[in-house]
Amino acid sequence: MTDNAFIPYGRQCIDEEDIQAVCKVLRSDWLTTGPMVEIFENAVKEFTGAREAVAVSSGTAGLHAVMNALEIQTGDEVIVPSITFAATANAVVYQGGVPVFADVDKDTLLLDPDSEEKKITDKTRAVVGVDYAGQSCDYDVLKQIAQQHSITLVADSCHALGGTYKNKKVGNIADMTVFSFHPVKHITTGEGGMIVTPSARMANKMRRFRNHGINSDHKTRSENKLWFYEIDQLGFNYRLTDIQCALGISQLKKLPQWIKKRNQIARSYDDFFKTVNGITPLKYLDYGVHAYHLYVILFNRDSIKYTRAEIFSKLRDMGIGVNVHYIPVHYHPFYKKTFGCLKGLCPVAEDTYERMITLPLFPQMSRNDVERVCAGVRESIQDMSK
Ligand SMILES: *Cc1c(COP(=O)(O)O)cnc(C)c1O
Repeated sequence: MTDNAFIPYGRQCIDEEDIQAVCKVLRSDWLTTGPMVEIFENAVKEFTGAREAVAVSSGTAGLHAVMNALEIQTGDEVIVPSITFAATANAVVYQGGVPVFADVDKDTLLLDPDSEEKKITDKTRAVVGVDYAGQSCDYDVLKQIAQQHSITLVADSCHALGGTYKNKKVGNIADMTVFSFHPVKHITTGEGGMIVTPSARMANKMRRFRNHGINSDHKTRSENKLWFYEIDQLGFNYRLTDIQCALGISQLKKLPQWIKKRNQIARSYDDFFKTVNGITPLKYLDYGVHAYHLYVILFNRDSIKYTRAEIFSKLRDMGIGVNVHYIPVHYHPFYKKTFGCLKGLCPVAEDTYERMITLPLFPQMSRNDVERVCAGVRESIQDMSK
């Protein structure tokens, strides 16, 4: 990379081994619903320690499958944090449910358990914890609240594959956990996702849901020379192809080293920001391995005179691919229109949104890239008038 080349905020790593794995499937008999799907599911089960895994066409499809398996329906409430990718809430709406936005912790941007508890009503069916930026929620607390109120604990762990919580792998903690394999996430299948759960009953429901609601799959029918099948419940086509699963299997082997690399880069950023006034990285909780999907910094309004928009555009002009994760979901016109969400609903989410920037973070970032980002941030907040 030349010195002013654009540094994206995230980027996939694809090597020759990945390409060969995909080519092998292209030359085989099964492009979809073939043997690679189960092999990938088993690999994720082994990696996370989960009992069941269901591969789907995206993380969003995974969240939808979870909401369907929980039989969320019209009027049912599901609590979600306001700082997350909109898909977390959209999945509730697909089922006719009502996403109830809870606020986040001001230092970690993880779902605030106190805010969650205040939003629980007799219509609440589930809560979705989002492992924001790759740091796991405090699941002991979330579990206790879920048990106390008889609601299901779902983990949107699309940021946290490879992370841990108190020596437990993410994916082996909540009732249902969803991962995404979009190219900015830890491992990729192009598009793709997976749900892991201890419940065989839930996994079977989700397997039907991803395949139109059909009660047997094409491969099994073909092997048993059967043609008859039934649809007992409406489903979708949310299948992940064998081509994608082969890529996922190959990528997963490299995940542990990538998590290490992400942590190393994060430590370099941490060290740098200790020397910068007015910028605080998100708080790191030492109860587990942080998967570092994102590195997010917060500006202190009292010591920095520029707005986020100004800092953002200065950094982009320097070729530094900063981003913002996320616009509070309740700010989106759809949610205002459909659920009457107003400003003030989640004050911490709203305040931190104005002060956040995501810095580039991906395993192949060079030492020089990291230094360029650090120098760029320092320059972007310098007060030129002094
Ligand atoms: C990426 C992501 C999703 C959606 O995953 P897709 O695979 O892009 O559909 C959902 N929730 C969160 C928090 C995400 O980061």
